[in-house]
Amino acid sequence: PEQQKILTSAMDFSDTKLYSIMTPLDKAFMLNSAKTLNIEKIKKIYDKGYSRIPVYEGRRENIIGVLMAKDLMFVSIDKFIKMWSSKCIFIRPIMTVNIEVPVEDLLKDFKAGKSHIAVVQEVVVDGGKDPYYSPVGIITMEDIIETLIQQEIEDE
Ligand code: ADP
Repeated sequence: PEQQKILTSAMDFSDTKLYSIMTPLDKAFMLNSAKTLNIEKIKKIYDKGYSRIPVYEGRRENIIGVLMAKDLMFVSIDKFIKMWSSKCIFIRPIMTVNIEVPVEDLLKDFKAGKSHIAVVQEVVVDGGKDPYYSPVGIITMEDIIETLIQQEIEDE
């Protein structure tokens, strides 16, 4: 109960916006499903050390899912490269979230869902076209937890 109180009191994200804690799209480490994988690329995946790697097709804005780095462990590198080329890799669905959504709501979705990463998107209103969503960044549960902890420290 005491712990719960601390968490609830710390859960004041009213001043925090998703865009200030997300990783901008141009800084995200992602893979292009349209490109063949090679050993160098796989080494880079290991070196980066990210557990979740968004996958796009062609354009970076066209994110089609997320590769879990741990899925790489279950097959040999050669097999993985072959599977990637024949699009047999298990790419998991990735959550999307509107940039205006309150941080608390996204945290709830992260806790309720299976995935701890989301694509942050915003509405683009562009002349004659119908408004559409375009991704501007990625965000993980870690980004939110980090913000919480930072607030705790500042409040002391
Ligand atoms: P990991 O489990 O891969 O260490 P976390 O979810 O703990 O990742 O997040 C740590 C930080 O790294 C967060 O700021 C998050 O936004 C960022 N991050 C996570 N995945 C990626 C990625 N593929 N590219 C760039 N930054 C990422």
